[in-house]
Amino acid sequence: MAVLNRDLYIPSIDAWVDPSVPKPRAIITHGHADHARSGHGAVLATPDTVAIMKVRYGEDCAGQFQSLDFNTPLAMGDTTITFYPAGHILGSAQVLIEAEGQRVVVTGDYKRRPDRTAQPYEPVACDLLITEATFGLPVFQHPDPKDEIARLLKSVAAQPERAHLVGCYALGKAQRVIALLRDAGWDKPIYLHGAMIRLCELYQELGVDLGELIPATGMPKAAMAGQIVIAPPSAIRDRWSRRFPDPVVCQASGWMSVKQRARQALVELPLVISDHCDWGELNESILESGAETVWVTHGREDALVYWCKKQGLEAEPLALPGLDDDGGEGGE
Ligand SMILES: [Zn+2]
Ligand SMILES: [Zn+2]
Repeated sequence: MAVLNRDLYIPSIDAWVDPSVPKPRAIITHGHADHARSGHGAVLATPDTVAIMKVRYGEDCAGQFQSLDFNTPLAMGDTTITFYPAGHILGSAQVLIEAEGQRVVVTGDYKRRPDRTAQPYEPVACDLLITEATFGLPVFQHPDPKDEIARLLKSVAAQPERAHLVGCYALGKAQRVIALLRDAGWDKPIYLHGAMIRLCELYQELGVDLGELIPATGMPKAAMAGQIVIAPPSAIRDRWSRRFPDPVVCQASGWMSVKQRARQALVELPLVISDHCDWGELNESILESGAETVWVTHGREDALVYWCKKQGLEAEPLALPGLDDDGGEGGE
């Protein structure tokens, strides 16, 4: 019996990792919608992921929840499950499955860069690594997010008569951008679209300091000159944005390095801020794991599979259904 099947099913404990349809038993890596779905019988996840799922989908979104802290082995018969931080969003976990003398790691979405809104990534040694490949092409080399935030603040300073609207996914990206702004010294209130409020509050409740946040709705137009507003990418281009003075449309995403995408999205100020590994970081993580076999999923699999084979590793792409082609940069 395999420890893990290619559909991320663990036969020994009859559980799936991040299943795309309701299952009796699910292990959930993190709260983005392409990984965490409602309707499972039993869910095993980190405490932060459980809290996020309950806020997004309701208290009853699974038959039952079991929280498991990071770095805490949970034995179920002959199989042991341990979560390690994935550094992607708050609560995001890599799943280590130990059985039959094998160590198997499912990374979920992950990043290695510092981010105080997520528990920092920890490398995990394993025999079989199942890695995401959202930015799995050599062309992807993410810049330092501090430099991207500096460009935003420079634009705000240069155009004090305009409001800057920063398009961000509501879970993870929004809170990270706010934290980056705070750490860069922006101590004025930051204004939020209604869709952002509850998850920002939850992050604050879970101990992530985001400073003073104010709902943008209802603010007089003139008062918003020189201010920064965080909103879903869809809202910054529709009628909602007209309430702000001469808005500068910004968007924070790893995809903003693709100039054509930024242009198509009518983004005036693209900010390349990614919550996934870039190509070099994917390579580094694979080598660091010591895995002899790598399954690649969730993105541009082929280039990474080819790279693994060149390193002398066994590698194959996994076609998993239901993962967000947009890279799960929010899974929305
Ligand atoms: Zn994803
Ligand atoms: Zn994700």
